[in-house]
Amino acid sequence: MSPVIPIRAETGVGCTDVVPLVERGQREVFCGLTGIIWLHRKIQDAFFLIVGSRTCAHLMQSAAGVMIFAEPRFGTAIIDERDLAGLADVHDELDRVVNQLLQRRPDIRLLFLVGSCPSEVIKLDLSRAAERQNQLHHPQVRVLNYSGSGIETTFTQGEDACLAALVPTLPTYPTNPAKPAKPNSETKAPHELLVVGTLADVVEDQLGHLLSQMGIEVHFFPPRNSQKMPTLRAGMPFLLAQPFLADTAKLLQDRGARHLAAPFPLGLEGTTAWLQAAARQFGVSQAVFDRVTAGPRQRAEKALAVHRAQLQNKTIFFFPDSQLEIPLARFLNRELGMHLVEVGTPYLHRQLMAPELAWLPSGTRISEGQDVDKQLDRCLQDHPDMVVCGLGLANPLEAQGITTKWAIELVFTPIQGYEQAADLAGLFSRPLRRRQKLAA
Ligand code: SF4
Repeated sequence: MSPVIPIRAETGVGCTDVVPLVERGQREVFCGLTGIIWLHRKIQDAFFLIVGSRTCAHLMQSAAGVMIFAEPRFGTAIIDERDLAGLADVHDELDRVVNQLLQRRPDIRLLFLVGSCPSEVIKLDLSRAAERQNQLHHPQVRVLNYSGSGIETTFTQGEDACLAALVPTLPTYPTNPAKPAKPNSETKAPHELLVVGTLADVVEDQLGHLLSQMGIEVHFFPPRNSQKMPTLRAGMPFLLAQPFLADTAKLLQDRGARHLAAPFPLGLEGTTAWLQAAARQFGVSQAVFDRVTAGPRQRAEKALAVHRAQLQNKTIFFFPDSQLEIPLARFLNRELGMHLVEVGTPYLHRQLMAPELAWLPSGTRISEGQDVDKQLDRCLQDHPDMVVCGLGLANPLEAQGITTKWAIELVFTPIQGYEQAADLAGLFSRPLRRRQKLAA
């Protein structure tokens, strides 16, 4: 059995003070509607009603990429010419569609009205529509709204907007200042942790198990069932499981929750540091932490070695897309020995990314936003061994002899935690191996 590797000691500040190359030009990204694909799988009694065009419906249908045998939990209320020409009252039409939907689907307990480019262009006030519908259907169904439009977003912002819409609805433990809770009363739960961000069920189970072995009670947000939303308490610590949840984190902090700064749980090292942030918060001893994590860490280390042999010293270039770029770059560089040519990110949130930036090698070229033509020029000039990009750029780059990885696959695949570390590495080593075989 290989020894447990320690987290590498820091020798500097990495990219903490990086001045990114900021570009504001044409972008090549999916819109926030895409998040519905993983969100509807997670919250199993929720329905996502997109208020959009046929384009939005087609995007969702093709991005979901599956034959739908069961009743789907997302759909599109199409804004058509009559609505656009003002011949029909869009609010009336929407009310009719929602009523029909809820009558047909009594299993729905949480309904999101999801805005799109068309609904924003015609300035359809979905918050008013959601409020009206909520008054009619709550408590049987809660109706909320958020925007998944592609006008100003990248695709993972859809989840941020969805969770941000949910935060104000989260219950809180009742507090009565006139009657402080007695120690050990049922309202005292000092070892409760909130984990924020959609994770695959298998990842959630693994991380939840590790934390509970350390004596930490975990609540996941979003939960699998909308009736089991986590209850907030003042000062409740939370860890982000995904790096693209800046608005959600801000709203949770506004409600008194406390963000624990940590790298994201990608790779062996990231997962260890993420778990350690929780362990530190609750005073878990190093001995307990080591005992709980030793097995999975050893397994991850062993499984990663195979991929390291393949990826070591290869160069990689990230186009901005999923907002996972910086944590992924850190993992690929530190644990697999890849060289970072450029790390593009749609937005650089310095505070949430601080632990990750500190772990990137100093001098890494970090770009924020996109001017796709200029970035393509840089990429072709650098000619990296691998590029992480959106679907629209992958084929042209492949044609130039550059191996690509679709960024969206990294969001759809379970990649967090120890047991998934090698799967994550495999997403990068496999395409390189395939190209080598084709070239042989
Ligand atoms: S929301 Fe906008 S970008 Fe997304 S599919 Fe609809 S029209 Fe296209």
